Amino acid sequence: MKVTLSRKKVAVIGGGITGLAAAFYMQRMAEKNNLPLDIILIESSLRLGGKIQTLRKDGFIIERGPESFLDHSNSVRHLARDLGIEDQLVQNNEGKTYVAVGNGLYPIPTNFIFGERLKVSSFITSGIISLSGKLRAAGDLLLPKSYIEDEPVGDFFRRRFGKEVVENIVEPLLAGTFAGDINHLSLKAMFPQFSQLERDYRSLILGMRNAKSNNSSVETKTYQTFHNGLETLIESLESNIDTKQVFKGVRVEKIEKEEAQLKITLNNISPIKCDAVILTTPFNVTKEILCKNLDIIREMPDMNYATIATVTMAFKKDQSMMDKNDAMTFYVSRNSDYAITTCSWCNHKWNNVAPEGYDLFRAYIGRVGDEAIVELSDSAIEKTVLSDLKKSIGMKGSPEFTVVSRWKQSMPQYTVGHESRMEKLKKNIKNQLPNVRLVGSSYEGISVPDCVTQGKKAATEMLENIFKDSIME
Ligand SMILES: Cc1cc2nc3c(=O)[nH]c(=O)nc-3n(C[C@H](O)[C@H](O)[C@H](O)COP(=O)(O)OP(=O)(O)OC[C@H]3O[C@@H](n4cnc5c(N)ncnc54)[C@H](O)[C@@H]3O)c2cc1C
Repeated sequence: MKVTLSRKKVAVIGGGITGLAAAFYMQRMAEKNNLPLDIILIESSLRLGGKIQTLRKDGFIIERGPESFLDHSNSVRHLARDLGIEDQLVQNNEGKTYVAVGNGLYPIPTNFIFGERLKVSSFITSGIISLSGKLRAAGDLLLPKSYIEDEPVGDFFRRRFGKEVVENIVEPLLAGTFAGDINHLSLKAMFPQFSQLERDYRSLILGMRNAKSNNSSVETKTYQTFHNGLETLIESLESNIDTKQVFKGVRVEKIEKEEAQLKITLNNISPIKCDAVILTTPFNVTKEILCKNLDIIREMPDMNYATIATVTMAFKKDQSMMDKNDAMTFYVSRNSDYAITTCSWCNHKWNNVAPEGYDLFRAYIGRVGDEAIVELSDSAIEKTVLSDLKKSIGMKGSPEFTVVSRWKQSMPQYTVGHESRMEKLKKNIKNQLPNVRLVGSSYEGISVPDCVTQGKKAATEMLENIFKDSIME
């Protein structure tokens, strides 16, 4: 029996890391299995990479967007291996993390939230929490578990540890990482591991201890990037994807079902027809693109995205009063006068980001409810951040240069109910538009590894889907 597969065309919309990972893995799987597949990738801007943007300047490596990643799933490492660039991965140096509360900087255990290394005892014994706050936090050992399906992250930690731990530790770390409002962010979507610990062990403190000794998901991992910056990953993906099929500077306006195919309307070239589409655009853009086809997406509320900016400053060495041997990152409590939400001493964290004789700092400004600052001019932002660095780490002098990168409406906020809304949406899409997939930072995790995982999963599912019916005698 001769099996002939009919040729199929898949469009990937959006050339950020999710779209590039999806296109790369589809191309690889198609080549490996001899599948007759054409892949097109459509990106509205003139460059690929989306939020991943590295500026290499006079020996400095400046990340305008994400700076590194925690790769619990090893998805980025596997992608790097598949691209032949695994040897370019580098790990961060050990160093201290602080929280700025009032006028002081208090050391806290590193990777408290993102790294899941919740060493509760050490933050409770640190000077950041008052005696009554510590007693309240220890109440976690006695409190019963709850059976709430989903709740705001803030409510969960307030319930377990009390108000002080939330204000001085949980909120600054979360605002610094996700620029979010903990009174709305969903525990189930963002930190399911913590509600699972409560369910399994009742107390988070006991759960952490047990999980750590069982070497479970609470294991520590270090942050990673590439020797020459995160954009190395994008450059490698771009050089491995068939570039004849990449359209840059072309915006997708709508996608409609047309008989068995999908018609993609573009802003500046003729429509393209294809058999399947992987959409990696932010949810609100995807909603616009698909709303003609799908009642459920039209009726869904828009998703909130935080507006933030990264501000990178290079100084001649030794202008900070801080002990440079252990300083690395500090987060800022809302109970302080600072405008910045977090700041990293980049050349202590990474060996390769600044030339000899210079220090490189990277701060974030803007978070939900506090975004107007991002609209200020570059020089006003530089002045504000410099004043914060003077107050917090005793920075002297002026920077050699400053790079301000604004990210408007860029950090998706997974608010309470996010998971169930997205599950319902995906179920409906599978029923009504089986050859369409929605993936990327708006859906199942915003980190770079989460985006790679989603892109790869969509690629696999899509190939299985479109080639299953094509087998003919
Ligand atoms: C400042 C900042 C710092 C971050 N720090 C970290 C970090 O340290 N570690 C970490 O793991 N994660 C971090 N993140 C999160 C992570 O970078 C992002 O979630 C991830 O890069 C998003 O990838 P994506 O492909 O899903 O989306 P994007 O990168 O946003 O890509 C989507 C692409 O779609 C294109 N597009 C939009 N509309 C259309 C259209 N109509 N037609 C065609 N194309 C379109 C866009 O131009 C864009 O290129 C950070 C994010 C930001 C903004």
